Amino acid sequence: MQKRTKFSLWYYIFSLFLILLIDTIFFSGYNINEISYKEFRDRLEKNQIESVIIRPDKIFGRMKVCDSTAVAAQDCKTFNPEAKQTPWRFDFSKHKEELSRQFIVVRLDDKDLIDDLQAHGVDYRGKIESNWLQNLFLNWIIPFGLLFFIWGFVFRRMGVGMNALNVGKSKAKIFAADPKNKVTFKDVAGIDEAVEEVKEIVDFLRSPDRFTRLGAKLPKGVLLVGPPGTGKTLLAKAVAGEANVPFFHMSGSDFVEMFVGVGASRVRDLFAAAKEKAPCIIFIDEIDAIGKSRGRGVISGGFDERENTLNQLLVEIDGFNPGLRIVIMGATNRADVLDQALLRPGRFDRQVLVDRPDLNGRIEIFKVHTRTLTLDANIDLHDLAALTPGFAGAEIANVCNEAALMASRKNRSRIEKADFEEAIERVIAGLEKKNKLINPRERQIIAYHESGHAIVGHFTPGSDPVKKVSIVPRGLGALGYTIQTPLEDRYLLSRSVLIGKIKGLLGGRASEELVFGEISTGASNDLERATKIARDMIRIYGMSKRLPNLSLADHNQGDFLGREANIAPHSEKMEQMIDEEIMEIINNSYKEAKLILSEKRDKLDIMAQSLLEKEVLGKEDIISILGEREGDTA
Ligand code: ADP
Ligand code: MG
Ligand code: ZN
Repeated sequence: MQKRTKFSLWYYIFSLFLILLIDTIFFSGYNINEISYKEFRDRLEKNQIESVIIRPDKIFGRMKVCDSTAVAAQDCKTFNPEAKQTPWRFDFSKHKEELSRQFIVVRLDDKDLIDDLQAHGVDYRGKIESNWLQNLFLNWIIPFGLLFFIWGFVFRRMGVGMNALNVGKSKAKIFAADPKNKVTFKDVAGIDEAVEEVKEIVDFLRSPDRFTRLGAKLPKGVLLVGPPGTGKTLLAKAVAGEANVPFFHMSGSDFVEMFVGVGASRVRDLFAAAKEKAPCIIFIDEIDAIGKSRGRGVISGGFDERENTLNQLLVEIDGFNPGLRIVIMGATNRADVLDQALLRPGRFDRQVLVDRPDLNGRIEIFKVHTRTLTLDANIDLHDLAALTPGFAGAEIANVCNEAALMASRKNRSRIEKADFEEAIERVIAGLEKKNKLINPRERQIIAYHESGHAIVGHFTPGSDPVKKVSIVPRGLGALGYTIQTPLEDRYLLSRSVLIGKIKGLLGGRASEELVFGEISTGASNDLERATKIARDMIRIYGMSKRLPNLSLADHNQGDFLGREANIAPHSEKMEQMIDEEIMEIINNSYKEAKLILSEKRDKLDIMAQSLLEKEVLGKEDIISILGEREGDTA
């Protein structure tokens, strides 16, 4: 989309000025003194009147130049006509003086008036009410002009432009693979897993036969999901650059216009154009602008422009033949708000996570963005990466650019470490303002929290082995994560396994309490999951001590609102027992988790420390810190 006309204060000031000017020039006439007929007659007698224009209802007049104290008629000089002829310059003082000399009188039936005017040598003339030119100007041209002005302004602000004919046209920018400034995978760093996944698309676009020969079905749509600035748009462009095919780039908000039906017609145009150019890539950036889930629970009239656009998009995606070799890519930082219909098989059925880079990833991104810069020899990119935890690619690009600017402002021949440090500080300040960055204290808490999960998990027999611990903020919400083999992979779970699972989940908070003597809100998801397991143990799996082998779940019954009501009828006393047992399980597990951690306190410190340094610990790192697990058969 073209850059929109900047909404600026100057428009306001300019319009205000214009209106004031118009007001003084054209409407000031109505501010002329109105005098009484008697005064008019008196002044006429005193010879103070120079000229009058007689209208059917009013008399417009002009007095001779004389100050109000002048009494004698002779003192009044007549107006000098030459001085009046300065059409090019608008002299406000003269204008004011002129105004003060003019007057209006309501005309009365006065038979002698003409004679008296004649007698006092006043220039008089009549006028029929017909200043049509002025009328035309005041009543038509100015209001309409203003209207058009404002209209155009508003339109341009909405990004429509005055050219209404252009409204339905697709605004997609086509990037034919331009060999000069082509984006390739070399420009994308630190998100290797995502790159790996989209490489397949490139292969497909380059040599589709290899895929179709084996009867493999190819992805139609790929959705890049990840926080802002992690390189989703960049990655999509790199796919196009690598595959050497045309690339239709459109942003979700481009579809959404003020006119009904425009979005849908743009979608149609886009796909029609793409079909002509196949093989190609259609990239819809920020797809959440159209793909937000359709208002559930909202009583809408059933008609919504965005919904229309989304429906058209679904129709087009379903409609084209996979043999056409068109790949649709979408990008969003909020996959959770997308309409489920978009994610169904045959549409955006593949999701690629583009996450914030870890330390090594950031080093790689620094490499990419310092390629063209002249760096001082003592700059170590590893140090820079260590200084920028939580940064996404866009922020690192920003740091490099700022550092280069800083150095050139100081007239340096190469960029020094100090420039980078200053630039990083600036970017951090900006991010902190936007609340997007985790401060060092929080990072420490997160490191201990995640280490807590890992250590409790590691030292609890029967629980799943810990694969990876990370304090790189992931997506939205999660501040860190610890990956264990998921519960769902097993078919039968013993009581001790479930308890182990709960302990591991509570390990995060236990570690916080142990180390900092204080707990934080960061554990809410852990608690939710732990509580759910405990409740299911009692209610569904009959693992309770006091109510053994009793299922309290009822899956068949929903209430009239369709909500799941999976509690079988039972007594209040039973209810209380369930609550007590859940409490007991959670409390005991928490105590045990804390016990494990206080026994392994030295390892907890080591692990948290190395997490703070490396941000991500893999399986080998974990084993080298904690040792092999006992009795681990996996
Ligand atoms: P997103 O679309 O995810 O919000 P962009 O692709 O628009 O992010 O990234 C903005 C800029 O930040 C890119 O043009 C690039 O200069 C830089 N950038 C972001 N991620 C990376 C990355 N992984 N590797 C290299 N540069 C990156
Ligand atoms: Mg983007
Ligand atoms: Zn946790």
